[in-house]
Amino acid sequence: MRQDSLVSADPLVTLFLELARIPSPSGHERAVVDFLLTRLRGLGLEVEEEDPLYPDSRSSAGNLYCRLDGDVPGVPILLSAHTDTVPSEDEALPDPVLDEGVIRSGSRAVLGADDKAALAAIVYVVERIIHDKITHAGIELLLTVGEEGGLRGAKASSLEKVVSRCGFCLDCTGPVGGVIVRSPSQKTVQATFLGRSAHAGVVPEQGRSAVAAAAKAVAAMKLGRLDDETTANVGVIKGGEAVNVVPDRCVIEGEARSHDHSKLETQVAHMIEAINLAAAEEEVDVELTVTDEFQGFDFSKGGQPIELAEKAFGRMGLETRRISTGGGSDVNVFNLKGLPCVNLATGMEKVHTPDEYITAESLHRMYDFLMELMAVARDRQP
Ligand SMILES: [Zn+2]
Repeated sequence: MRQDSLVSADPLVTLFLELARIPSPSGHERAVVDFLLTRLRGLGLEVEEEDPLYPDSRSSAGNLYCRLDGDVPGVPILLSAHTDTVPSEDEALPDPVLDEGVIRSGSRAVLGADDKAALAAIVYVVERIIHDKITHAGIELLLTVGEEGGLRGAKASSLEKVVSRCGFCLDCTGPVGGVIVRSPSQKTVQATFLGRSAHAGVVPEQGRSAVAAAAKAVAAMKLGRLDDETTANVGVIKGGEAVNVVPDRCVIEGEARSHDHSKLETQVAHMIEAINLAAAEEEVDVELTVTDEFQGFDFSKGGQPIELAEKAFGRMGLETRRISTGGGSDVNVFNLKGLPCVNLATGMEKVHTPDEYITAESLHRMYDFLMELMAVARDRQP
């Protein structure tokens, strides 16, 4: 049941519904970025769009950055959320509905509260600050593109304009009050085994099987949960053309994550050794690429972002839930680039599925939190 009268009475919910109605799967953020540009520039803000991620595509867009200079001393802070969503099945369009305080997709499309709930709260806070002339110590916004499936917008951003030394991403599931304080580093390993093709029934001895080498390498690897802070996986294996041909090419793609840097190095070295050994035994060549995907962080023992967040939640009478995760987000990239940053839960649930939802109450809690955060940052000596 649609309750448009309720919607129009609540500008924050209305803003969220407007954002959710604009489809923006990764690589196609143009329309939602244009919406945000219009809204923020309408406040008189100078908003800069960084280079689009996919310059050949008309629907591609770049990260948005803008700064509100502070009018009182204190700690300037950066707020971040991502503008893209996961794609919806059959390219279904979101038709969000508010029913008894809960906002759902209303179609087979994902709602996109991940991360439009955060975008709505951030933009609405900025609007209130400007309209109500609320003093603050400086606020920067970095609204990224291409977060889903590779943190690409955050990786592409140099953060060169950012002056804040304290950042908050709003991109975690679960009730408002949750803060990701600890996250692992991740490296990916890609190996291309290059053998020699031959007819499998006539002259198999002349062939060198890339698939056999890849299989041997994967079988020799320790994978899965390796200890309480380290995991590893091979998620892709591709090779071969036909059952009667000894395959000359096979690619495997794997990853390792750990909260402990030396454990991560040890696991990656182990995976590389398994690959090289299998290639040698099967007499095939191998090309290896190891990539630093994101950097872990650990604010479990303190740090300005967690201290400010905890104070702000305290002022709301909310207990902070400190979360340690195995996942990565834009936050890992910002920390890697030297901006201390934590990830905050927004109240979104069942993300990346058509059952995704968020309550109007969660949107308001996030808004209240951001307002308290401004107040805490204002009172704090830099
Ligand atoms: Zn997200």
